[in-house]
Amino acid sequence: MIAVLRRCLAPLVAVMFLAATPAPVKTQAPGSYRMAVGAFEVTALYDGNLRIGSQLLHGIDPAAIPPLLAREFTDSNEKGTLTAINGFLVNTGEHLILVDGGNAGCSMYQTAGHLVENLRASGYRPEDVDVVLVTHMHGDHVCGLSKDGVRVFPKATVYAAEAEAAYWLAPATDPNDPNEKRKANARKGLSPYQAAGVFRTFKPGTVLFAGVTALDTRGHTPGHISYLFESGGQAFLALGDIVHAHAVQFAHPEVTLEFDSDQPMAVAARKALFETLVQKGWSFGGAHLPFPGIGHLRKDGGAYAYVRIEYAPLP
Ligand SMILES: [Zn+2]
Repeated sequence: MIAVLRRCLAPLVAVMFLAATPAPVKTQAPGSYRMAVGAFEVTALYDGNLRIGSQLLHGIDPAAIPPLLAREFTDSNEKGTLTAINGFLVNTGEHLILVDGGNAGCSMYQTAGHLVENLRASGYRPEDVDVVLVTHMHGDHVCGLSKDGVRVFPKATVYAAEAEAAYWLAPATDPNDPNEKRKANARKGLSPYQAAGVFRTFKPGTVLFAGVTALDTRGHTPGHISYLFESGGQAFLALGDIVHAHAVQFAHPEVTLEFDSDQPMAVAARKALFETLVQKGWSFGGAHLPFPGIGHLRKDGGAYAYVRIEYAPLP
């Protein structure tokens, strides 16, 4: 009798266990990652992604690119290689500093614009940010700073290099300027801060706050800046757009992107910075490196290898 019952119930029990399995969540876990740099706290924030087509890479035989992409197991298709957009939030104890504001507000990439939602998920609010440092004024870095003409970070003063502001925020003069659409995006993100009197410019090399220095890395744009954060003998460099195609440019730093405004200068900036990163051993975060976009650099033969950060408890 018991044997018969067991035989009858077995399929039922199996179904009950199957039914107990929750459905897959199907959304990604919140896009933030945190680490300590001395007494500073660095939080990487995921804004989303875009795809960079290999035809946008210059200075390399096109046939050499696919093996480099495959070697790093990149997500590449006919639209290009999946490329993250990252911002970095640094709590120095005196300031809560956001480096770049993501792409929300521009229609360029529908797959981006999540920086604020991930900032909230990481435990902060937009109104907690009192400083925004802009690496450069392409839309994927500044569009998210304002929404419909309103400042997304209402308590923040925004800082950018003089040369960057002079180029991108100049009043429109030539509607046929191929960069006019990009300039319009820059104005859209930054003009609400200008109107409120909370937009400042600086010269490269300036120490902006205790432990925060603006390094001159022009080339991708006329006033591109990388921000160095130093505390307790440790350092983190927010690179900005020094690397767009990690699978290609660490092995071939001479490779440029179509949108580098000064191609030879972009190469020189990347090579110089790579040498510095190897020699100093600084951690660094890239706006377009695979999320969280943080790691270290080492020499690899005649080129460089990127060593990604490990998820770890905070000290
Ligand atoms: Zn960018």
